[in-house]
Amino acid sequence: MTSTNPPLKRRCPDCGSPLIKRCSEMQHLLMAKTYLVCKNAVCGATFTGVDEITHRLSPPSQPNPDVDLPFAPAAARRAVLQEQRIATEKQQPAQLNSQDLEPQP
Ligand SMILES: [Zn+2]
Repeated sequence: MTSTNPPLKRRCPDCGSPLIKRCSEMQHLLMAKTYLVCKNAVCGATFTGVDEITHRLSPPSQPNPDVDLPFAPAAARRAVLQEQRIATEKQQPAQLNSQDLEPQP
């Protein structure tokens, strides 16, 4: 099963417009306090929340010995990697195959 929808962005819970992350304050290595502003100037809502790293999706090349994070379940890792691949493919122009450059008989 593949998704053709773009990755969901954070939306204002009041009006549904996209939210802009204004800044974050690090609370510790895995947690930051985040401030969000509704992009809809008429709405004008602002929010604060927590941005927390909870799992690893891939191993680091230079692991920090102070960070002890579990890996996400395999199904969750596959789903995220698939979403990233779809987003990357949409950002890059389609590549031509060598067959596309050869004259057709
Ligand atoms: Zn809003």
